[in-house]
Amino acid sequence: MKITFFSSKPYDKEFFGKVNKDFNFELDHFETHLGPHVLNLIENTDAVCAFVNDKLDAEVLEYLAKKGVKYIALRCAGFNNVDLEAAKRLGLRVCRVPAYSPEAVAEHAMAMILTLNRKTHKAYNRVREQNFALNGLMGFNLYQKTIGVIGTGNIGAAFAKIAKGFGAKVLAYDIKENQELKDLGIEYIALEKLLSGSDVISLHCPLMDSTHHLINKDSIAKMKENVMLINTSRGGLIDTKAVIDGLKSKHIGYLGIDVYEQEEKLFFRDLSHTIIEDDTIQRLMSFPNVLVTAHQAFFTEEALEQIATSTLTSLTHFEKNEQFENPNAVLI
Ligand code: NAD
Repeated sequence: MKITFFSSKPYDKEFFGKVNKDFNFELDHFETHLGPHVLNLIENTDAVCAFVNDKLDAEVLEYLAKKGVKYIALRCAGFNNVDLEAAKRLGLRVCRVPAYSPEAVAEHAMAMILTLNRKTHKAYNRVREQNFALNGLMGFNLYQKTIGVIGTGNIGAAFAKIAKGFGAKVLAYDIKENQELKDLGIEYIALEKLLSGSDVISLHCPLMDSTHHLINKDSIAKMKENVMLINTSRGGLIDTKAVIDGLKSKHIGYLGIDVYEQEEKLFFRDLSHTIIEDDTIQRLMSFPNVLVTAHQAFFTEEALEQIATSTLTSLTHFEKNEQFENPNAVLI
């Protein structure tokens, strides 16, 4: 089987190359995003392997199907960038990596909380300038604070357990409850109560029509003053303009985002020598209480190895028409 990769980075080549020694597929890597502009790169390929910002809309999928592509393998968990209806209509099989080291993302969410709270990023720079003053570095104890988790699937559950380990009270909201978390003393409550009762809110639900702009002017108004908001899930969960208003009015005290609504034009690239035209991200980055990381929450050795193994295993199952061990890996 030939697999064509889009949005491929050196680390994708490294980890897929290593894991592929057990599979022997033909791998063809392209650094460019997948979209209508690069469809001429698809030649004699059985599978397309795509990442979070590759656009797999009806137009792209129709072209892929016409070119003989049979399988779409998403090397990520989220699948909001694929038109699944169109894929189904075209007879394409689609898989994803439903759970690769959820701890990688959960630990990054906690790293963002600790950085924003204890300002280690500022302390690091200060002492290098021989400035040993503490003014402006004061944080708060997470112990006995209330941390709200929205979406308690693989990542949200891992994050809730970490938060519990800090001695925080953990509130959860999800459309389905996780009994293991309830047994650990994590309390499921209505979304409105979570918003109004949490000192820190961390988003771990997928981006869907029902969750698009879940964090908006109205939901921000329900939050505690000085709340800390963390988003390591998908940018579209947050209405960025409303969050900027919340930061300006000081209702939001801290914001940590690993994902951003318009990230496909920015993230995973070195743009240090270019003029950024996106004024919204520039405004966000100008706040001293905002931390932006460029979709790196998944980025651990363990996660990359699991992504490569899971993706190539799923494509083998498609090719051999085998049953998947984890049915959540198959989207169609
Ligand atoms: P998951 O499917 O295991 O869990 C998602 C949970 O959200 C489920 O429990 C589901 O019931 C819940 N949910 C669905 N709709 C909801 C709603 N309206 N309100 C509240 N909860 C709702 O997924 P996961 O593996 O935990 O991943 C969560 C998200 O994290 C993914 O969708 C992806 O967007 C994001 N992600 C980000 C990175 C990164 O590097 N930043 C990496 C992996 C995943």
